[in-house]
Amino acid sequence: MKTISVISLSLLLLSPLVAGDLQERCDRLSRSQMQGVIEYLSSDALEGRAPGTRGGELAEKYMHALFKMLGLDSRFQPFTLHGFQLEALALTANGRRLVLQEDVVGSYVRAESEFSIEGDAVFAGFGIRTPLWSWDDFKKADLRGKVLLVRVNDPGLYDRRIFMGSALTYFGRWTYKVEEAARAGALAVLLIHTTPTAGYDWQVVRNSWSGEELYLPASLENDLKFRGWIREETLRSLLAGKRIDLERLYRRSLRRDFTPVDLGFKVRIVGRNRFRTLPTRNVVATIPGSSGRDIVLSAHIDHLGRDESLPGDRIFNGAIDNGSAVAALALVAKMYAECGRTLHYGLTFLACQAEEAGLLGSRHFVSQADPRRIVANINFESTPVWGKSPDMFAAGAEYSTLEGMLRRVAAEQGLNYTPFSLSEQGLFFRSDQFPFAQAGIPAAWLSAGEKDGAGRNRLAEFFKGGAYHTVKDEFDPAWELEGLRQTVKLAIGLIEHLQASRETPRWLGRLPFPAAATGRETVD
Ligand SMILES: [Zn+2]
Repeated sequence: MKTISVISLSLLLLSPLVAGDLQERCDRLSRSQMQGVIEYLSSDALEGRAPGTRGGELAEKYMHALFKMLGLDSRFQPFTLHGFQLEALALTANGRRLVLQEDVVGSYVRAESEFSIEGDAVFAGFGIRTPLWSWDDFKKADLRGKVLLVRVNDPGLYDRRIFMGSALTYFGRWTYKVEEAARAGALAVLLIHTTPTAGYDWQVVRNSWSGEELYLPASLENDLKFRGWIREETLRSLLAGKRIDLERLYRRSLRRDFTPVDLGFKVRIVGRNRFRTLPTRNVVATIPGSSGRDIVLSAHIDHLGRDESLPGDRIFNGAIDNGSAVAALALVAKMYAECGRTLHYGLTFLACQAEEAGLLGSRHFVSQADPRRIVANINFESTPVWGKSPDMFAAGAEYSTLEGMLRRVAAEQGLNYTPFSLSEQGLFFRSDQFPFAQAGIPAAWLSAGEKDGAGRNRLAEFFKGGAYHTVKDEFDPAWELEGLRQTVKLAIGLIEHLQASRETPRWLGRLPFPAAATGRETVD
């Protein structure tokens, strides 16, 4: 026992020096060293890196080769996805035929090429059931075999005193509504689209639901066969035919005593579907630690592929989303591979696939892992590529003791710790840190600050109507990449803090999403 404590004491004494050394190594990285990964992954040769395509496979092989070259133990983690592409759809409600793409979009998620389903239409409020805010929209209603019409967002948007006010909780995300409808045994779910509640207009919904939809097979092991969206105006006119006032239903749905409302008509969904299975892979590299527990660092390698219907440029290169973030992951791996010392917590580098299709690669990774052996997840997403920032952010760190650690790391590095300005868009729920958090593992999307030295918020510009998810997200050799360097240094600062203190991050207070219990203590 004595020798162990002498060793751990000497490690503690040593660590500031080692940490300083790692930071200096980061300062010495040249722009060309930081560029390489972004340049290659976002090149036209990789054709937008969609899972199951040649470009997607090249991205996997590249990461595997890169990790091996660094001397890490790297392996592929193969998994299968199910893809569904709607070819024709006729949706009839209350005797009226709705127009695909104009009134309704959706996807049928069974391996049949021709399908026909029918069920009673039920308005199910916000479709939320959670003990966190003592909210249950379903009560004792039997929703098996029904077609649920559900509002997006959460009641906090209308009443600041409930949920987290205007800050979006996971219970407001459409993906949650689909999961809850599946748990209730519903046959279909139609999300009611309005621009203020969804955060984007109908055009965005239409575009993102017009191609192939990918799923993990395990997420389809339920009775929910169809999921989609209906335009609010369409629903309003349908209900007018039944003399039902939509506004009245909405008012009722803001109350805790709301119960589902049978709308008195059937919805029939008939269509043709194309189904395929496609193999894909995460790449997982490790540096073992002596404790048998790991810190998982992650970044998704996939992007949106190609769109043949576009005139001119058809390749979604995804240089910022997520080439720069993969570069951050690779650079942290390089630093630790080169320093070669014995770690307390092992490091797992997860280059995951199919994030754009719904965080599928990270979800698969988490489903195969033992959450008790993962201390924390540090995710990189759309890492800033511009000039040095005076600050940093860590989306989701506020839910756990990671925030306190990161405040110290930021102060040590002369940075201000700032909240992420886009948190009302629920971005914490929309990248690979989230499946870790759902499994009960404290997680954060770690990044240099949004503003560059001149105070311009380049990251918000990117996400809000900039190059984000367009063919314009391309590599620019003029990028200074100081934000990338800062992000790498922050991750190293946090890893070093965890290694030296041997702390296990814990949740703090109330979470805005359901997280599995892992036996970790919660402190208030
Ligand atoms: Zn991304």
